[in-house]
Amino acid sequence: MKIITATCPECGTITAGNVLEQHRVCKCPKIDCERVLRFEDLSESDRQHLSENKTQYQL
Ligand SMILES: [Zn+2]
Repeated sequence: MKIITATCPECGTITAGNVLEQHRVCKCPKIDCERVLRFEDLSESDRQHLSENKTQYQL
């Protein structure tokens, strides 16, 4: 299974792509970073992959 992640441009913290897929928008997980990450920031192919393989990510 392909692992898709989003990297915060501010601090470099990694967020799982499937979390973004579920919430569309989420704050950077780092406590003192206010950066907001968006599903739309992922590349076209990554977004498509996440949408097509949703069930694989649901544990
Ligand atoms: Zn951050």
